[in-house]
Amino acid sequence: MCWASWGIASPVAVALHVRKWVWAIPEYGTMRGGVLDQHAAVLVLTTGWYAMHTADDERFLRLAIALAHQARRQGADPFGAVLVADGAVVHQVYDRSVAYSDPTCHAELSLISEYCRAQRRFSLEGYSIYASTEPCSMCAGAIHWARISRVVFSVTQAMLQQLSGGHPKPGCASIINSGHRQAAIIGPLLPDEGLAVFDGYTFIPKVERHRALAIGGAASRPAR
Ligand SMILES: [Zn+2]
Repeated sequence: MCWASWGIASPVAVALHVRKWVWAIPEYGTMRGGVLDQHAAVLVLTTGWYAMHTADDERFLRLAIALAHQARRQGADPFGAVLVADGAVVHQVYDRSVAYSDPTCHAELSLISEYCRAQRRFSLEGYSIYASTEPCSMCAGAIHWARISRVVFSVTQAMLQQLSGGHPKPGCASIINSGHRQAAIIGPLLPDEGLAVFDGYTFIPKVERHRALAIGGAASRPAR
């Protein structure tokens, strides 16, 4: 495999990795016993946590960012997400929460829900998700329960809150990796391109935009 570069390189990420080792290695050793297993745990954990990104990651993430631009042009919230399996895009979505009168219709959650229903799949193990902005707590929960193996995003939640002036939100890693499965989480990747989505963008609360939409015309959601 040809790795392009390190996916996560910030000191914070490294500190989180170290904390993960300290927490996980003794537990793994206790469960399985033996120094050899502890070394195996180090290998597994470092493989997961020191995830690196590929040229394909950049290509798919740029598609998610393009969807976010498209969403903005169409008056939707400027967030896009792409689902990839075996090196191919299998579904792509942008945020339609205001248009559908459904606050759960974030790009990532819709992506998972629509694909799983259509394909009658319950687990997306082995799949990768690409998001123009780091998944929120709700979408991170969906990623966790869908068992998605890799998560790649551009703009972090912290960057988004800085732009929007909103309250700080947690990063996605603690929610996605709250169980025994450890997804590789890569980001911020291509942050300049992701941030360009918000150039000159005015953040107006969803509820206000929905109210305006409801006054201007019925906001309806297609039946699932
Ligand atoms: Zn979300």
